[in-house]
Amino acid sequence: MSATKAYAAQSPTTPLSPFNFERRETGPNDIKIDILYCGVCHSDIHQVRDEWGGSIYPMVPGHEIVGRVTETGNLVKNFKVGDIAGIGCFVDSCRTCPNCQSGLEQYCDNGMVATYNGREKVTNNPTYGGYSTQIVVDEKYTLKVSPNLLLEGVAPLLCAGITTYSPLRHVGVGKGHKVGVLGLGGLGHMAVKFAAAFGAEVTMLSSSPSKEADAKKLGAHHFALTSDKATMNGLQNHFDFILNTVSAQHSYGTYLDLLNTNGTMIVVGVPPTPSEVPAFNLIMKRRSIIGSLIGGIKETQEMLDYCAEHNIVSDVEVINVQDINGAYERMIKGDVRYRFVIDIASLK
Ligand code: NAP
Ligand code: ZN
Ligand code: ZN
Repeated sequence: MSATKAYAAQSPTTPLSPFNFERRETGPNDIKIDILYCGVCHSDIHQVRDEWGGSIYPMVPGHEIVGRVTETGNLVKNFKVGDIAGIGCFVDSCRTCPNCQSGLEQYCDNGMVATYNGREKVTNNPTYGGYSTQIVVDEKYTLKVSPNLLLEGVAPLLCAGITTYSPLRHVGVGKGHKVGVLGLGGLGHMAVKFAAAFGAEVTMLSSSPSKEADAKKLGAHHFALTSDKATMNGLQNHFDFILNTVSAQHSYGTYLDLLNTNGTMIVVGVPPTPSEVPAFNLIMKRRSIIGSLIGGIKETQEMLDYCAEHNIVSDVEVINVQDINGAYERMIKGDVRYRFVIDIASLK
């Protein structure tokens, strides 16, 4: 066991505060990682505040983890001490179901083990995430990270990156497609970067007029203010795909109307309460809605390698862990440019 410093939520209504716990021994297939940076995902807020139900306390959030390997088990093949490694949203799964066998561990039929707010398979102990100084994970659930990329910008790729890369690849976004990205936060800004890199014509659909210049810098070809009626009227039946990253309550109908015939809305944002789906907005142009959850280990590695090759990282605001509660408040107001990342040195 090894003593680990962290920040934790003790209940849905208390601010995050210092917390100490023990990580398990490094097993034969495990690697131990000294955490350098951890991104702050809106899912952290949803779970800390128990907005989705079933939260386990104390909760150490954080599933966008980058760090340096400090120890390897004797059966570990792919990592050595000193390597840079990444951990995303899950740290284990059943490994035998059809989804696990085909690299879709996030859809494990027996339930993947979430990096935090989950339970370890054998011990049933709660899992603790990356707002902490170190973590021990089976190498099969650990990603290789190029040391050439800015590491604080890499951390958010482990959730915001793969969550947007995976569905855009799944539906085959590329040249000739018109793509709308709804919501310019952590996921939204990565979606813009990837959709533009894949060759699509990208429109940022945002409720924040102040984000227009940044959206263009991130690679969006157009910016549309969602509260502007004339702009929205001009975009009726326009898009092939809309990637919906919005974290708060909204009706899907308004945005479905922006899809052309056979257009698809990809839902990745998870507001705490169900969203309305008016049937007329779907049937009039044979539109569809699909959902997507993060991505499997193989595809996450593919995404990280793609980012290393194309020099893509997240645009981040680095904070000390002591600033986390204020960062949550800013995210809820949509005031994030475009991912908060905790410098874990501030915990040590
Ligand atoms: P974020 O950084 O806080 O960004 C969310 C953005 O949504 C905001 O910046 C804002 O963009 C827009 N927004 C917020 N409130 C709104 C409202 N009331 N009406 C319209 N737009 C609003 O959050 P994130 O980390 O990107 O996460 C987004 C959502 O995805 C969360 O629900 C999160 O839990 C979920 N998520 C899902 C997966 C998955 O696997 N499917 C993975 C990670 C996260 P504008 O200012 O541009 O409007
Ligand atoms: Zn996340
Ligand atoms: Zn499985």
